[in-house]
Amino acid sequence: MTDEIQRLLRDDLRGRSPYGAPQLDVAVRLNTNENSYPLPGEVAASIEKALSGVVRDLNRYPDRDAVELRRDLANYLGHDLDVANLWAANGSNEILQQLLQAFAGPGRTALGFTPAYSMHPLISASTGTAWVDGHREADFGLSAERAVDQVTRHRPDVVFLCSPNNPTGTALGLDVVEAVLEAGTGLVVVDEAYAEFARDGVPSALRLLGGNPRLVVTRTMSKAFGFAGARLGYLAADAAVVDALQLVRLPYHLSSLTQAAARAALGHAPTLLSTVAAIKEQRDRVVTELTRLGLAVAPSDANFVLFGSLADSKAVWRSLVDRGVLIRDVGLDGWLRVTAGTPDETTAFLEALTAVLKENP
Ligand code: PMP
Repeated sequence: MTDEIQRLLRDDLRGRSPYGAPQLDVAVRLNTNENSYPLPGEVAASIEKALSGVVRDLNRYPDRDAVELRRDLANYLGHDLDVANLWAANGSNEILQQLLQAFAGPGRTALGFTPAYSMHPLISASTGTAWVDGHREADFGLSAERAVDQVTRHRPDVVFLCSPNNPTGTALGLDVVEAVLEAGTGLVVVDEAYAEFARDGVPSALRLLGGNPRLVVTRTMSKAFGFAGARLGYLAADAAVVDALQLVRLPYHLSSLTQAAARAALGHAPTLLSTVAAIKEQRDRVVTELTRLGLAVAPSDANFVLFGSLADSKAVWRSLVDRGVLIRDVGLDGWLRVTAGTPDETTAFLEALTAVLKENP
């Protein structure tokens, strides 16, 4: 950035780095928790048909309220949710931004428990919201006691709980969500981007929505639906929260192409979600194999695994890239995160890691 532009930049943004997972052109890309499976032919054909149905009307603005899409999303989630409880945007990142624009901002505070999703503090910064780091326990767990202690101490306007949590893969019990709701007076956002990958018996916070008007659950079609390129995130909350977001959303933020594509994809939800079981199998395989290699492995309810006890995680990351396998350095010294891909990708990763560990024990 030139000096002149640095001078013009908002003081609180000067010196900050943008979000930047490397997008390297290597054979095996397991670094951004994407779904490795392309859309099945029948789903792609439905989407193409839906898109060609709206292309001729692109001279008109889309449905500003995305009502039909929100109805489809409510039907997908169940839990007696209705159009009025759903809101959609360009990825759940935009959903998170709208939440902070409406409920946080200058003079207000957001609290999260790191290591967690790096965009929570970044979007807080870009909306002028003060960030408080609640920190997790050493094993990446988060007990209700610790969460309540931090919430009581800082009285945040917004609390982020991420379950299953990125980058650790660990899920939260609903007792933590309930305790945080009870301890504070602000909005409680449970980021459930990876909910569909959770193991049996891990409940969604959607179950707590009735009777908790300060609770918001965010979801995305980027992961389980394999729809990251389309950019479709959404939330479920009390209708009053959705009403409040209308104050900050840009008019016509969700294009008619996006709305049509997402609706067509949701019409094939069971087919699209059929990759979830295969991905979970590879995730569990990674956990087993890395444990067998003697590494520390965080238990995962997501489509990725955080592993550690690496003497030099940066060197391991680099050596894997040299072997055509891209995984993620999430900035936790000694730890790396790998996305569960296809069986072949997982094999390639495991073989490369085994070889690398022999070189860098
Ligand atoms: N929340 C979490 C926890 C994530 O890991 C991600 C993506 N990495 C997102 C939200 C944002 O996803 P998207 O904007 O693609 O919906």
